[in-house]
Amino acid sequence: MKFTTWAAASALLFGSTVSASDPLTSAKLVADINQVELQRVLWALNKIARDNGGTRAFGTPGYKASVDYVLERAQTRFGKQMDTYVQSFNFTYDETREISVTGPEGEDVYVVSPQYNPSTPLPGGITASLLNTPVNDETGSMCEAAQWDGIDATGKLVLVKRGICPVADKLKFAKAKGALGVVLYNQTPGTDISTPTLSADNIGLLIPVGIIPLEVATAWIARLEAGEDLVVKLLVDAVSDTRETWNVISETKEGDPNNVIMLGAHLDSVQEGPGINDDGSGTAALLEIMGSVKKYKGFPHKIRFAWWAAEESGLVGSLYYTEHLSPAEADKIKFYFNYDMIASPFPKYEISSYENSGIGVSLLEDYIVAQGKEVEYAEFDGRSDYAGFVDLGIPTVGLFTGDGAPWDPCYHQACDDLDNINWEGFLINTKAAANALGILAHSLEGVPPRATTTPNLRGRSKLHHSFRRWAALAEHAQHEHMCSHGSKKAVV
Ligand SMILES: [Zn+2]
Repeated sequence: MKFTTWAAASALLFGSTVSASDPLTSAKLVADINQVELQRVLWALNKIARDNGGTRAFGTPGYKASVDYVLERAQTRFGKQMDTYVQSFNFTYDETREISVTGPEGEDVYVVSPQYNPSTPLPGGITASLLNTPVNDETGSMCEAAQWDGIDATGKLVLVKRGICPVADKLKFAKAKGALGVVLYNQTPGTDISTPTLSADNIGLLIPVGIIPLEVATAWIARLEAGEDLVVKLLVDAVSDTRETWNVISETKEGDPNNVIMLGAHLDSVQEGPGINDDGSGTAALLEIMGSVKKYKGFPHKIRFAWWAAEESGLVGSLYYTEHLSPAEADKIKFYFNYDMIASPFPKYEISSYENSGIGVSLLEDYIVAQGKEVEYAEFDGRSDYAGFVDLGIPTVGLFTGDGAPWDPCYHQACDDLDNINWEGFLINTKAAANALGILAHSLEGVPPRATTTPNLRGRSKLHHSFRRWAALAEHAQHEHMCSHGSKKAVV
């Protein structure tokens, strides 16, 4: 990494020649962002994961090391320009220590465990006959109560196709029909099976599940349809406990505390991988933008960066933060930008927004389109850390380059590493973020007031229930049994 080190050193030299009274502009922020520095950050995050068992997930040493990495900049190096604090809280940690599926001939089958998978009886696991269930690729297989009508799964392991609705929904129905466990098969062939979450709030409500490849299930289904009785075994050994974790919040000393522009990205990965695109990309973008911002003065609005904890466990860190804002503090946050996965290897450029996003969409859109990229649009769906801000009616916008195929085949897997990055898209998106920040740091034109009284923002009422529930979970870290629909990514 000699070249990288030298490039960094020269960047530092240039940085030191900039006068501290240099006024901040969008153009300067955009010009400061460069690919070498972004690469350095991702390289460091990848190394942190490698040194800590391949993950930077909530509750692991890799997450703690990620926090320390951000603090080394925000607090140690940029302490003159930035005020930084660490917001700590407890949440339910879960880990599958062992999972296995043994086929009818005693063969070991490739299997993936979702987060918050309950244990089978140990050490024996569950050995039972397999019961096939109907497939519906349009509305989802076994996603609705009616699809389970007339099915008696008592004492069985149920074979169900993955997709459309949260995995936890399928498990609840199967449990209600007397099943001992579920063998879920993936929708696409191969062993690239992303890890869903069953959500911590479902602890105690579900039966164990193992996710197997489509090909294995296809062969079993043919034999079941021919009238064979297939006896298989599912074993899940999972542990859960309460662990401390930390949001890192860092804001400029410069700027009016009553007018804050905020940027957020999640600092945790899933347990299965280093999380370099998801969300090392957002993490690195914020670090590099902060490194640029701290060189300048002369901007009227305060700039606040947030690196969220435990997003992959259910947006826990960001919801903990927004839940603990007083109405007066929420009013001071004039705009929130969410950057969660902005460097997918085959990127789309998707801007998500809601009714109160104001100028946010066009701020990002204008820059990206000017780079010759086509922009797509989406409504907020509650799958990332913008959720708590939308719930508070704070003007918010998000940028996202896609998860899963075809955008990011390594989504939530061990291969979400340095090879899983589209550097051109990453640079464009980071510069777009810098540009948008530079504009709002000076002017709130086009930014609506916080929507405190709008009763029916689309998506807002729907998400509201889960926000309250997650926030309560984050605060008390208890195993509450509450009704809900998962509000985080990859529940499906
Ligand atoms: Zn993410």
